[in-house]
This record gives sequence, structure tokens and C-alpha cells, in this order.
Amino acid sequence: MKSLGSIRRAFAPWNDPNAKPYIQFENVTKKFGDFTAVNNLSLTIFEREFFALLGASGCGKSTLLRMLAGFEEPTAGRIMLDGQDLRGIPPYRRPVNMMFQSYALFPHMSVEKNIAFGLKQEGMPSADIQKRVAEMLRLVKLEQFAKRKPHQLSGGQRQRVALARSVAKRPKVLLLDEPLGALDKKLREETQFELMDLQQELGLTFVVVTHDQEEAMTMADRIAIMDKGEVMQVATPAEIYEAPTSRFVAHFVGNVNMFEGKVADRTAGTARITGASGAQIVVDNGDAKPGSDIVFAIRPEKIKVSSKKPAEGVNALEGEVYDIAYLGDMTVYHVKLDDGQIVRASALNAARISEDPLTWNDRAWVSFRPDAGVVLTR
Ligand code: ATP
Repeated sequence: MKSLGSIRRAFAPWNDPNAKPYIQFENVTKKFGDFTAVNNLSLTIFEREFFALLGASGCGKSTLLRMLAGFEEPTAGRIMLDGQDLRGIPPYRRPVNMMFQSYALFPHMSVEKNIAFGLKQEGMPSADIQKRVAEMLRLVKLEQFAKRKPHQLSGGQRQRVALARSVAKRPKVLLLDEPLGALDKKLREETQFELMDLQQELGLTFVVVTHDQEEAMTMADRIAIMDKGEVMQVATPAEIYEAPTSRFVAHFVGNVNMFEGKVADRTAGTARITGASGAQIVVDNGDAKPGSDIVFAIRPEKIKVSSKKPAEGVNALEGEVYDIAYLGDMTVYHVKLDDGQIVRASALNAARISEDPLTWNDRAWVSFRPDAGVVLTR
């Protein structure tokens, strides 16, 4: 059997110019009165994709999901699913199901009755229902809990019932609004992997709304980062992290250091940036134009901290250790540069004893390679 990892690694229809889009938001706008919740947004999702909408509270991600489910209609633009315009099609006629954060289980019904509910309403013959429910119980590993009521289950088990119920009707697309929001951290992490397995096994398209970046990074094939009703970037988790295209995205996902400056000059490969204090760094040039103001965004783990001046060929800036957070697996240093900027650098604690112990108020050098970050112009 192929591992989940190898299936996912090979899956990248967005890079294939011949791949047919499955879900398309085309210039979709949603207004509530004169408030614009979704603003002229276009987005393409592919069949069998695990797609995450990630953004702060109020950015419009649930509204987007609700329009796909049919609970809201766009004010302008259109939504296509498998080549069909969804306008005017009521929720129950769409090949889409939605799992809510509250799970909305029926408290007086057993687990199996909860799962069977939608099938019964659809008029499925009872022998088929029985078979489907058994299959669903096995899928979410709840066979021995079939007769229990929701209040006799743990939070994680309730989440799995909700999941089984929402995929029982075999929708083509499952929409999940903060699916793991009610679970504690450890259970959430375990459940993320279960959700990925389930999606793979059923071959469904998942669109999940979350404000938890780790969750989106773990589960999704691609992530759309949203802000104020607009999509800021759509990319794989690694691209979002390593190659954000704006300050907003760089800040929103993970920790980042920003070196602001003016492009002093550039060659074919690199640009020299002068900061406000006059300190200079050399970076891969990206779109940097001479004389323009840019930001060099670099992640903390790409910055090395040492007590000695580093070798030539890298950017090196001197300062003083301002703060240290020892987190066990790694240590985060805050180094205050001589121009006042605080740089955050993290070092993996691969050995039990550090070879270059640094402590508060020590002089220290931070260094990084020109290609360790990205040049941002917006
Ligand atoms: P959260 O993570 O808090 O759920 P979200 O990104 O999902 O946030 P939405 O629920 O899509 O945000 O809401 C986007 C904006 O639209 C919010 O400012 C919200 O107040 C507004 N909004 C949503 N539904 C309505 C409605 N029915 N009437 C008026 N305004 C609404």
C-alpha cells in the first residue's frame, strides 16, 4: 500500500495547466448591508484537495464556506462546482455537506441513529442504511460506541460522530468550520492526522476553515490566507512559510524578522540593502529595484547566533543578548542589535550541552545567508 505521504507528495493539480478546476469562486463579493465581508474574491480548488482557509476572526472565511454550502448567496460573482453554476441551488441539493464546530449532534439519539439520520431522510432502504452506518462506525473507529448517546462520549469521540454523520451521505465536498476547535491540543494533533487519513480513504475534497495556522499547515495541501474579505496568497504550506509574497502573510504565519531598508545597489543575483541606521546587508535580490524601499523577511531558525564574529560571506550584525527563552527542544534568543532592532533567532538544542553557551547581556553576532529570507515589496 502506498503511504499517505507519497500520495500527497505526488498530488499537485494546481501546477498542471490541464487540470480541471473543481470548485471555482469567480469574482465573488458578499455584502451584508453596506459591509463587505468578501471582496471580489477568486479562488480555485481541485478535486480531492485538502484546502484550508486561514485567517483572523472576521476575515470572511466562514462566509465563503457558507456560500459554497448554499446558506448564503453571493452579492456578485459566481461559484462553480464541477462545471455547474451553484446559484439558486438550495443547500440540500448541493453535493456538499458541512460539519459545524458545535457538531450539532442530536442529544437524544444514539451514535448510530445520529449517523443514520441523513440517510433515512433521503429515503435510503434500511438494509443499506445499516451497512453504511457500520462502515462509517468502522471508519471513525467507534464500533463499540454505536449505542451510546452523545453525552456519554468524550469530546474527541463526539467530533468523530459528527464527522461520520457528515460523510455518511457521501458528499463530493465536505466543508469543515473549525472542525477541531473544541478539542484540547493533544487530541487536536492526533485528530488532524485521522482527518487526513479519512479524506484520503474516501477520496473527498475537503475545505476547512481555521484560524489555527499549525492546523492548516499540518493538514492542507494548499492554504488560502485571507484578510478583510480578500485572499492574500494561495500556496502550499511550505511555500506560504518559505516564500510569503507580502508582509501580511510573512507576519501571519510563523515568526519572522523584518529588516527594512533601501536598495543601495544590485547585481544580477544580489541586492545591497541599507537600513535606517546605515547598517548594510546583502540579500538575494528578488524584485528589489535600486532606490526602492523593501523588507527582507527572514525566519528565526534561519539566523545563527554566536559569541564570535562569523566567517566572511554571510551577513553579520552585532548586538547584545536581550532575552532567552529555553523551550527544551530549542532555544529562542532575542538579540538587540546596536541600532536598536531586536532580532529573534532560534537554535535547535541537538546536543544536551551547548558548545557556545550565551547568556543575558553577552555580546553576540547574528548571521544569515543572503538566500535565507525573501525580499518583500508589498
Ligand atoms: P470567525 O473565525 O470569527 O468565524 P470568519 O473569518 O469566519 O471569522 P465571517 O463569519 O465570515 O468571519 O464574517 C465576516 C464578516 O462578516 C464579520 O465582520 C461578520 O461580522 C460579518 N457577517 C457575517 N455574517 C453576517 C450577517 N449575517 N450579517 C451581517 N454581518 C455578517
